[in-house]
Amino acid sequence: MINKPVYADNAATTRMSDDVLQEMLPYFTETWGNPSAVYRTGRNAHQAIEDARRRIAAIIGAGPMDIYFTSCGTEADNWALKGTARKLRAKEGKKHIVTTAIEHHAILHSCEALEREGFEVTYLPVDEKGRVTAQQVKDAIRDDTAIVSVMYANNELGTIEPIAEIGKLCREAGVLFHTDAVQAAGILPVDVERDSIDMMSVSAHKFNGPKGVGFLYCRRNVHPETFMDGGAQERGHRAGTENVAGIVGMAKAFEDAAAYKADLAQKLAAMRDHIQAGLLEIPDCRVNGDQENRLPGTLNVSFPGIDGQSLLFSLDLKGVEASSGSACASGSLDPSHVLMAIGLPYTMAHGSLRITVGRYNTMEEADYIIRAVKETVAELRNKQ
Ligand SMILES: *Cc1c(COP(=O)(O)O)cnc(C)c1O
Repeated sequence: MINKPVYADNAATTRMSDDVLQEMLPYFTETWGNPSAVYRTGRNAHQAIEDARRRIAAIIGAGPMDIYFTSCGTEADNWALKGTARKLRAKEGKKHIVTTAIEHHAILHSCEALEREGFEVTYLPVDEKGRVTAQQVKDAIRDDTAIVSVMYANNELGTIEPIAEIGKLCREAGVLFHTDAVQAAGILPVDVERDSIDMMSVSAHKFNGPKGVGFLYCRRNVHPETFMDGGAQERGHRAGTENVAGIVGMAKAFEDAAAYKADLAQKLAAMRDHIQAGLLEIPDCRVNGDQENRLPGTLNVSFPGIDGQSLLFSLDLKGVEASSGSACASGSLDPSHVLMAIGLPYTMAHGSLRITVGRYNTMEEADYIIRAVKETVAELRNKQ
């Protein structure tokens, strides 16, 4: 039997690895100086940040000076979008943004904020698997488009978007291209040159790093208007004393993820496919998302007629921690915008379950998840 909760919500956050913690610890106590200071205690902290910058840049095919540390993925998304839109409106009169209907709220709510400032936003629809095409992006670009923002992989479905194609056409059209790679980084071999990415958001806690730290990649000579005014940190583009331990931890976690990427992806896909096969034995179970272009650890299923919230509560009682695109989780009555965007009928969207496995899950846990979901769905259906 399993005597601690089976954590199956790795798209929400991940457990930090012990190696990452060990690498971070000295930066709370021994090397605790302010990185901007001239004396040794500060210089050592500064050195650690610059090492982390180099380590991270090498993994995504960037230069160290293209990495700007932020407090999270949300900040990187806000900064890329708002900072670029406002800068290009002031400089070139551009007032249009292209994005998709299935972005994370960090992007969608930033777009809504920009609409209130007078920007026009095109929210591209997706197909039933959650994919946009490069052609859709191309058709949406206008002379006054300031930025295109399309996520690398979706956090609810795991669907991977055709980023290299979109990047290429944006480069040809002379429009800046941002991607929210928070779900993809650490799992997929993201490369900013190959994918023609101008800006990219990443967050450490999604790949077994610490919470509260992320980065925005900005291609040379591309950077959004400054968002956080203050000191001269991050070459004057992002003020605030650096989260030194967090930055060091992020570099270590990103390196570990890069080193084990292929193995990890295989392990996750094996567990995910096993769970998927098990759940498909449940009558009327349907898999949501793109089964070809999908993050290896992500599974999104629907059980029509079941209430996703009740499913989550019952699973929690059985020690399974997962997520749903159903109401209430977000405090609203509507099912998730992503499930609506792929055209799921209301009852299917309400009965959705997202299981995301990660580095610390085991096949034994996968079996336990299958049993728990089967039991719970049967119980809820009997009640009806
Ligand atoms: C988690 C997530 C974010 C937000 O990152 P934080 O570091 O938690 O702010 C943004 N986009 C996607 C796709 C995510 O999954």
